Amino acid sequence: MISAQLLDPQLQPLLYAKVTKYMLHGLCGVDNSQAKCMVNGKCNKHFPKEYRERTDWAEDSYPLYARPNNGLVFEHNGARFTNQYVVPYCPQLLLLFDCYLNVEISAGLGTVKYLSKYIYKGPDRATMEISGGMQDEIKAHLNGWFISPIEACWKIFEFNMHRESPAVQCLPIHLPNEHYVNFHAHQTVNEVLARQNVEKTQLTAWFNYDFVHDDGLGLTYWQFSQYYTWDAKVKSWYPRQWAKVIGRMYFVSPSKGEQFFLQLLLTIFEGGKSWEYLRTWNGQVFAIFKEACMARGLLEDDHGWRICLEEAIAIQPRMACRRLLAVILLTNEVAEPHLLWDQFKAGLCDDVKHKLHHMNHYQANQEIPENDVYDYGLWDLNRILVEMGRSLTDFPPMPLP
Ligand SMILES: [Zn+2]
Repeated sequence: MISAQLLDPQLQPLLYAKVTKYMLHGLCGVDNSQAKCMVNGKCNKHFPKEYRERTDWAEDSYPLYARPNNGLVFEHNGARFTNQYVVPYCPQLLLLFDCYLNVEISAGLGTVKYLSKYIYKGPDRATMEISGGMQDEIKAHLNGWFISPIEACWKIFEFNMHRESPAVQCLPIHLPNEHYVNFHAHQTVNEVLARQNVEKTQLTAWFNYDFVHDDGLGLTYWQFSQYYTWDAKVKSWYPRQWAKVIGRMYFVSPSKGEQFFLQLLLTIFEGGKSWEYLRTWNGQVFAIFKEACMARGLLEDDHGWRICLEEAIAIQPRMACRRLLAVILLTNEVAEPHLLWDQFKAGLCDDVKHKLHHMNHYQANQEIPENDVYDYGLWDLNRILVEMGRSLTDFPPMPLP
């Protein structure tokens, strides 16, 4: 399906002609240090590639395609191209379209995450600075965006940007009487408050359902939404007849205090009946959610932080996860920060290999040592902490970069 090799001109003359016409990267590296693609002494596309006898799957990157050292050479104007210079192509597509066409296999879990991030990251943006005649003024920065003609047409015609299956039910988390209320600008406060069911949300309606029925008592808030359907008109839950839905609570950062502890309780609490019910443990009603978490042992052995990081790593970009760990450290309530790091460092740093490769400190096909990856992760974590006025040295025995 995909090849990165020259062909025998006798056996496949047509394809051979296309490959040599379109799919060769210009000589660079040791063969031509003046090539345009050379940045800091290295080709920015990592050519010439190493010879290899068979295709290997690489972790977190494109496959390493077979480029056998089989003596096949294409000569052009005195330059000699071997399999090391072939840009990966798909023979069928190359013959069909007759143009430069780089096709790569992209598989693995990372692809799914990449696609999902791509949908939600929004259009390209640029930060522009207006200067000249304003030297003594505070610099004005404008956050601009660029929409290509194709994207503009797509949106004007209101085509779908993406489709989701199964549907995801987003579940709000709010403290008592602190939920969002939508209203029109012309409405008065009294009009809004007089609206029927204005006090109800998915969360409080979950309490109401479990207060009256006992069929949902074995389910947590997010599990509940998979078996019950939300009727937004009357703001009530009903047993789900069909359709598969995944329930997800909005992520709450530990910097939100009580709201975070409420979320922590909701991740484990089966069958909520009321706010007070959530704050009750062993017959004792606690004044705040944090105390209820402590009584249940959720903050012992950093258990709550583990739940929080686990959830964040499943859904958030890695940069945001390292920032989250910094926020968690800043609460000063982590008993053993180094154990948290040890348990989650692989997840927290799984974007780092890609970053390091981009920085061109390593050869394209070179395996980056794990220690270098974690070292960069710690460096980045420390950078975030310094931004927040602290550093890793404040949280012994955290390892240092
Ligand atoms: Zn190059």
